[in-house]
Amino acid sequence: MFATALATVILFQPATKTKNVLFLFTDGLRWQELFEGAEPDLMKAAKPEDAHYKAYWRETVEARRQALMPFTWSTIAAKGQLYGDRRSGTPCQVLNGLKFSYPGYSETLQGFVDPEIRSNDAVPNPNVTVFEWLNKQKGMEGKVAAFGNWYVVSSIFNKERCGFYVQSGMEPITFTGSAEARMLNRLQAQTDHPFPPDPADAFTYEASMLYLRTKQPRLMGVLFGETDSYAHSGNYAKYLNAAHRFDRWLKGYWGMLQSLPKYKDKTTLVITTDHGRGDGSEWTSHGEKITNAEHTWIMILGPDSPPLGTVRGEAGVSNGQVASSIAALLGFDYCAAQPKAAKPLPRLVR
Ligand SMILES: [Zn+2]
Repeated sequence: MFATALATVILFQPATKTKNVLFLFTDGLRWQELFEGAEPDLMKAAKPEDAHYKAYWRETVEARRQALMPFTWSTIAAKGQLYGDRRSGTPCQVLNGLKFSYPGYSETLQGFVDPEIRSNDAVPNPNVTVFEWLNKQKGMEGKVAAFGNWYVVSSIFNKERCGFYVQSGMEPITFTGSAEARMLNRLQAQTDHPFPPDPADAFTYEASMLYLRTKQPRLMGVLFGETDSYAHSGNYAKYLNAAHRFDRWLKGYWGMLQSLPKYKDKTTLVITTDHGRGDGSEWTSHGEKITNAEHTWIMILGPDSPPLGTVRGEAGVSNGQVASSIAALLGFDYCAAQPKAAKPLPRLVR
């Protein structure tokens, strides 16, 4: 009887090929640019000689999105999954109603909306993120890390309590004293960053790549900020450049992962954002009063997820599903431990 029950459990919980997850995130990148590239109305002011016109303006939606995010539309669209294209019947959204950063980060990372989280202040998250929970599971201990461009990310992961390496904002690299780390720390301290008190995203990227290469974690998060910052400043050209850089970094991580035996064909990328932005002239903004700023997107690329490309006709996808999806890919049932958490994405695993 016991043996039969055990056999049944094993039978119905097929092991995933995924042994590692890289969680990648860029703040406030709209689904419109992700799925459709540079928006015609917002490009009207651009002149043909402008660099961003040359780089991102094309006649068709397919060509525009390919120009803006080439790794996404060549590799993820062919081998992975993209949720959030409202025109394909798969809207994706945050459910917190506030449509700004801390509520969106926490909804995504803990898997549910905490109505008490109503500001962007750097207060320690009272909730346990899926990262903190996974860091306590068998085989995952000490194999979790997170990097954030926004200084508040350390609070969202609750750096004091969580038990894994977290570095955000201008915090220097402390996981190693290597020459490369010391050089990055010196450069970060001496650079005139565009959006103080946070560094340029490039420093977050380089620090996280150094960690990935040398520490080889099983779960790492990297959360970028420049898409949001350039949008708030109303600079569409630099917002597009930030989206393009994020796509280039996705390619950089993927290339690194596929070159290391520990990761090759055993690692899934889970990629998302924390909120959308307004339509038309409201593209610079987001928040409770901005219509449609709840609309987000999620992308998956890895060995367990069917290559669906743009997922069609899946209503009801939300950011809260990210937390349990990360756990499920690593073979853990987060919803059993945290019943408030949303279920994994509907077509995540074969
Ligand atoms: Zn945000």
